[in-house]
Amino acid sequence: MEAKANSVVVVHNTTIVTMDADSRVFQNGGIVIEDDKIIAIGHSSSVLHHFSALAHQIIDLNAQILLPGLINTHVHTSQHLARGIADDVDLLTWLHGRIWPYESNMTEEDSYISTLLCGIELIHSGVTCFAEAGGQYVSGMAKAVELLGLRACLTQSTMDSGEGLPELWAARTTADCIQSQRELYEKHHDTADGRIRVWFGIRQIMNSTDRLLLETRDAARELKTGIHMHVAEIPYENQIVIETRNVDHGTVTYLEKIGLLKNNLLAAHTVWVNNTEIAFLSKAGVKVSHCPAAAMRMLGFAPIREMHDAGVCVSLGTDGAPSNNRMTIVDEMYLASLINKGREVYATGTTDPTALPAETVLKMATVNGAKSVLWDDEIGSLEVGKKADMVVVNPSHWSMVPVHDCISSLVYCMRTENVVSVMCNGKWIMKDKKILNVNEEEVISVAKLASMELLKRAGIQIPNRMNIL
Ligand SMILES: [Zn+2]
Repeated sequence: MEAKANSVVVVHNTTIVTMDADSRVFQNGGIVIEDDKIIAIGHSSSVLHHFSALAHQIIDLNAQILLPGLINTHVHTSQHLARGIADDVDLLTWLHGRIWPYESNMTEEDSYISTLLCGIELIHSGVTCFAEAGGQYVSGMAKAVELLGLRACLTQSTMDSGEGLPELWAARTTADCIQSQRELYEKHHDTADGRIRVWFGIRQIMNSTDRLLLETRDAARELKTGIHMHVAEIPYENQIVIETRNVDHGTVTYLEKIGLLKNNLLAAHTVWVNNTEIAFLSKAGVKVSHCPAAAMRMLGFAPIREMHDAGVCVSLGTDGAPSNNRMTIVDEMYLASLINKGREVYATGTTDPTALPAETVLKMATVNGAKSVLWDDEIGSLEVGKKADMVVVNPSHWSMVPVHDCISSLVYCMRTENVVSVMCNGKWIMKDKKILNVNEEEVISVAKLASMELLKRAGIQIPNRMNIL
């Protein structure tokens, strides 16, 4: 059998923001990719000199910016067809009146279509890897992720208790929850050329028995994978934990007590935590996914500056479409910085424009994202030996011009519109704003229809606003 020839691509004449340990930025840089890996990085002249002869393709980026693929560490791909179904409603209506009926009436096909639509938006915003927060059909999600060419840690929405659950979910036992996730792990983990990993999920503590928490902890440890859980989202959650689980503060204190705080736990939101709990998170190496837009809308101000100062690894997430509407990590970078500068008004009486500077926010969306999804040995920065996951940003667009400080421009000026091309695992998945592996228009029309039918099936009616004629 003939050995497959390796493909070598040289990309040059680009500002490379590597996000490596030395924070190197090559103003006129070049990078060499062989198959799915980066094999060289440096100044353009040196890269061209050493690799031009070997290259199958040489790409001149005309001074555009090259970033590591961005990582969205909390996104509900199953909720994408629910964009706009729960705007401006209280939390109880949001959950019991809209989201639970929507999610419990989904089919596997809906999950597939929803993930395709969500994935298109993720790619447009420069995301190459995401952590699913817990959705309905991992098999549907996996099919979409494989097709789109993305990288993902997929998680099943898992609950084994709680008041008012839809009938279908209320019937699930703890054993079912663990067993089905083990099966999904067997079937989908390390598939799609290694781009898909399967994690365990815990929707949130109020929908989990102690047995589920403990068995999830042990199963994830045994299979050496991660756990994705919504943590300390609202004060009511902490209050319930205090009343029912015999601890003096809230969810984080309880998770510490039962040994669930480990470095494989990705704690989403983590808004209502005190300083003792921040120290617990830091000591255990727990990763926090900060979702600024969703937090502002539904949850509150997470103490991100304090977590950062305490050494907690904080990354960024969009949350799902019914909590945020915009699934773009580019907007979350901007919001993370602004919200946390503004939040300082509570501590000091004035905002602090120096809080969460641009380089910190860029780390949250790249290297910290990679650590959060337990994949930092292969992604999160542009370095020799790592996977070729990268994003081309065009700064010569009205939204970014002029660029005097590249790093701050990427956080404060960049919009999704500036993202032109995206590579994941050495393959282009978007080129010149065109999604390559699926037909975007076709997905949009199928998704519109599936969304309408799903809402009908779930009996969800969105009340009219204003005077519709
Ligand atoms: Zn969430």
